[in-house]
Amino acid sequence: MKQTPVSPREALTDELYTRYSRGGIWRRRLSRSLHTMTWLALLAGLGGVKRALDFCVALTLILALSPVIACLAVVRAAQGKPLFEKTVRAGRWCEPFDQYSGILVLFNVLKGDMSFVGPRAVAPGELTPREREARKRYSARPGLICLWWIRKRANIAYSAEPQSDAEYVESQTVRGDFGIALRAIPALLYGEGVAVTEDVVTIVGIPIHNVTMTDALEWIVARTRNATPGQICFVNADCGNIAWRDPEYRAVLESGELVLADGIGMKLAGKLLASQIRQNVNGTDMFPRLCETLSGTGAGIYLLGARPGAAEKVAEWIHEHHPGTVVSGYRDGYFSPSEEPAVIQQIAQSGASVLLVAFGAPRQDKWIHSHLGETGVKVAMGVGGLFDFYSGRIPRAPLWLREAGGEWLYRFYQEPRRMWRRYFVGNVVFLWHVVRSRKQVSRARGGSKP
Ligand code: UDP
Repeated sequence: MKQTPVSPREALTDELYTRYSRGGIWRRRLSRSLHTMTWLALLAGLGGVKRALDFCVALTLILALSPVIACLAVVRAAQGKPLFEKTVRAGRWCEPFDQYSGILVLFNVLKGDMSFVGPRAVAPGELTPREREARKRYSARPGLICLWWIRKRANIAYSAEPQSDAEYVESQTVRGDFGIALRAIPALLYGEGVAVTEDVVTIVGIPIHNVTMTDALEWIVARTRNATPGQICFVNADCGNIAWRDPEYRAVLESGELVLADGIGMKLAGKLLASQIRQNVNGTDMFPRLCETLSGTGAGIYLLGARPGAAEKVAEWIHEHHPGTVVSGYRDGYFSPSEEPAVIQQIAQSGASVLLVAFGAPRQDKWIHSHLGETGVKVAMGVGGLFDFYSGRIPRAPLWLREAGGEWLYRFYQEPRRMWRRYFVGNVVFLWHVVRSRKQVSRARGGSKP
């Protein structure tokens, strides 16, 4: 059979078709990726995958920002200043290096002085001799983004910076770094702390004692040795809304000996009021630290609340994780009014110093307010759903989500029917109350730490 001749134009179309047909496109993409991967592998051979990624991302950003860098060079030259303004920082193995200012810090990453994620680049003078010794053992390069910075912005930097750095260095992975970089986005949105930090900040009319976790734990220990009992109240955005419509609850919060800012909503409220909330001091983060602090002191804890079996499991958790901490007793939170005197008597006879009541707000706080004297304890606090977390009934949000200030999102995901109103309507209503009450804010309540 005679074949029809193929015109040059048709041949070209055929070639293009083969090249850009589905298979062709994927083959080309694959070959391009292999090419990139070869380069990455070569670079990785020089300093590991993390170094290779740092190098590639820094180079890409420098190329993308080259017009800006060129303008900067012209401006600096006109001012008679050098392009690279340098500050001495402690680097890898604590070796000093010159950190460039502004976007030029990308050249530090390119050169390998710094990484995108790592411990903060500190001035050598900032380090104590012990910290310097510790840093000499760190192979990690200082980072543009660091874990402690993220925790500080999310108000959960409970441990000191060197501890946070050590945690990062010991558990460092490329995937982990990627997670930290992502968490930096909400951290940037929360912003730096505002300049004014007051010891008592009034939020929607509730005087909040603006203390850190360490301050609160010290207060508890001191109080366990005190003759007069004290009530601790954790106040989150939902509590603020409840107090807005429940005068009895508001009065309890106003009379609480230590009233603490719980959650990211309070941090945002503080920002709106131009008063920095020092830390997110919530019961769930305080609990393990409280057990550790009371360990060996002989001051016992009584666990009251939640469903039958939960408090017992929390007691087991304490025995396992803090064997030196005394659990004076426990019982569930489902009892009738006629059983109440027996419950109170049980607590009093247990000799506990610290009482944790998990009935949910506002009931738990009102209950403590009414019965604190009868229980014989020195410190009592309402802890909401804490027993559900530590008994393992409800898993807590992973640390990375808490660091991103998204614990509430996780609670919503777990119980959407119960939580949607609290978070999606409640948080907006709360911030609206904060804005409205801004004018009446009185920060005069003593103005001193409790
Ligand atoms: N609860 C209780 N007795 C009751 C009602 C509730 O002990 O009569 C417990 C409930 O089992 C849960 C806790 O109170 O463990 C409330 O948790 P929630 O998360 O609602 O408290 P929040 O942290 O929101 O104040």
